[in-house]
Amino acid sequence: MSHTLESYARGAWFTPEDEGAPLADANTGETVARISANGPDVAGMIDYARSVGGPALRALTFHQRAIILKQLAAYLTEHKDEFYALSHRTGATGRDTMVDVDGGFGTLFSFSSKGRRELPNSTVILDGPVEPLSRQGTFVGQHVYTSRPGVAVQINAFNFPVWGMLEKLAPAFLAGMPSIVKPASQTAYLTEAVVRRMVESGLLPEGSLQLLVGTHRGLLDHLGPQDVVGFTGSAATGALLREHPNVVRGGVQLNVEADSLNCSILGPDVGVEDPEFDLFVKQVVTEMTVKAGQKCTAIRRVIVPQSMADAVTEAVSARLSAVVVGAADHDGVRMGPLATLDQRAEVTKAVRALLASADLVHGDLDGVEVVGADAETGAFMSPILLRARPEAAEPHEVEPFGPVSTVIAYEDLAQAVELAARGRGSLVGSVVTHDPDVAREVVLGLAPWHGRILVLDRDDAKESTGHGSPLPMLVHGGPGRAGGGEEMGGVRGVKHHMQRTAIQASPDMRPRSRGTGPPVPDATSARCTRSARTSPSCGSATRSPPRSARSRARTSTTSPSSPVTRSTPTPMRRQPPPTRCSAGSWPTATWWSRSPRGCSSTRLRARCWPTSVWTTCGSSPRSRRARASGCD
Ligand code: NAP
Repeated sequence: MSHTLESYARGAWFTPEDEGAPLADANTGETVARISANGPDVAGMIDYARSVGGPALRALTFHQRAIILKQLAAYLTEHKDEFYALSHRTGATGRDTMVDVDGGFGTLFSFSSKGRRELPNSTVILDGPVEPLSRQGTFVGQHVYTSRPGVAVQINAFNFPVWGMLEKLAPAFLAGMPSIVKPASQTAYLTEAVVRRMVESGLLPEGSLQLLVGTHRGLLDHLGPQDVVGFTGSAATGALLREHPNVVRGGVQLNVEADSLNCSILGPDVGVEDPEFDLFVKQVVTEMTVKAGQKCTAIRRVIVPQSMADAVTEAVSARLSAVVVGAADHDGVRMGPLATLDQRAEVTKAVRALLASADLVHGDLDGVEVVGADAETGAFMSPILLRARPEAAEPHEVEPFGPVSTVIAYEDLAQAVELAARGRGSLVGSVVTHDPDVAREVVLGLAPWHGRILVLDRDDAKESTGHGSPLPMLVHGGPGRAGGGEEMGGVRGVKHHMQRTAIQASPDMRPRSRGTGPPVPDATSARCTRSARTSPSCGSATRSPPRSARSRARTSTTSPSSPVTRSTPTPMRRQPPPTRCSAGSWPTATWWSRSPRGCSSTRLRARCWPTSVWTTCGSSPRSRRARASGCD
């Protein structure tokens, strides 16, 4: 008998009183687990997150939080076989599982690394230089980012039950916000399994993670202005959330990642003999078949020169014919089933709508040959390639969330860009060309409509991460139809969960960078690169950086790897030099260039001083240097 999924609420597992509805294995239709619409007390969960999880998280520095993320990723990796087995039941093949499970853990590793390299070992981020606001210099401004005392509610779609959770959780966790994760019901059994391991690891501060399974009733009703909702799912649900009174009037911050009619454009410079032609065709087929096309970033619109439309259609069809469809864990299977039978019915409906202005050129809506499973009890579907008729509207309006793409012909590049824009805003677009002028025109035309753009050619293809892979260090999100939200994007994704405040004060009273926690021991510091040695995350800097780093330090106005912000010159009282390095005065790349000449005993002082001191206490560079080192 399959178990009924549990929520993790207020530090304990909550078992619903009823056994709930069955969740089917996408390959066989067998019941994997059951899910109940009767969940725990949502208001209590929100209160617990705010009163227990938030304070526990915010007591840690960014580096301490980052180390936990890394340890968590390592812990989960030890259990990945168990997740792989469940992932197959969602319809994910080995390749798809890598994207979801390994990709999710990779995202934790990446945010951990970014947090330690790019954020201070502190709980506050100074943002930008000190702004002089007065003639006499007694009044200055400084932007700071602080953690919100709220909760991050994360509502996820069914297609990435692991990655979808972790890509939202990691930046919120780093920002000091506790998370309540609401997985989509269809594949919630995999999310639940991962959360069980996360809780069992004992690594997470109490209350920093809760799981709400099976219901979203009242989820936004108890949220307020310090809370953040991250939503991924359909445009229809996104629109419902936007209309919630707490979003409209209550100040709840809502980030929406909705559907997206992503395109890939073949440059007019590419002929069938060029390597870019094969790259283009392969990319289209990959995007149609990975996760059976159930990816928000999949290519739905294949935009090609009129003269190449036949060649592309034939080449894509030929490749699709070789795709083996079948049970997700069966050897040799390239494409598994959709997540559910309902989903197959939805996609079939969307294809029928597309057929109003396009012709079916590959695939069969009524059936598909599968290996290792039954095509009817499993949610299998044939890959479908369509060819748009002139002036077709539907390919720019209807999202078939499955293995479906439409070839659309263009006359010239201006029209290609115009067709791309008819998607009304997408997560990602790509252009495959070896001509820099074509790349330039397409990128500039597409950029306002897209969150990410890939330019693919023979030179970057080998190392390219591909059209459909969002990366933790880059923005994931898109304007307009794609929801207008923004996720990940490295440290910017962390700041997105924090409040930016401009502090106006006298120079002595302005916020300074002070590490509030002890240096975080971590084996990674041993791996610091030469260029990163001066970063706070690399422990104490004991060797001179390369010359290039010194000259960079002289010209830059801020040190991105340092919590210390340099100010523009403003008169201020000189501070007594510290006698030893404290956690609050991290060595920075800048001090190297400031070590005073002829002031032999001040090496340590100069090294430990907040950089702002030397830039603000004198007029000439020489006197500034001398005063900074305390030897004037
Ligand atoms: P969905 O039906 O909108 O559901 C998404 C999530 O919202 C689920 O967790 C669902 O919970 C929850 N939900 C539904 N109604 C809600 C309400 N009134 N209040 C709060 N939460 C509510 O979408 P889906 O079918 O899972 O996902 C498919 C869609 O997601 C596609 O259109 C695809 O384009 C889009 N998507 C976008 C991205 C992106 O990054 N832009 C990524 C993946 C998918 P239940 O499951 O329990 O109903």
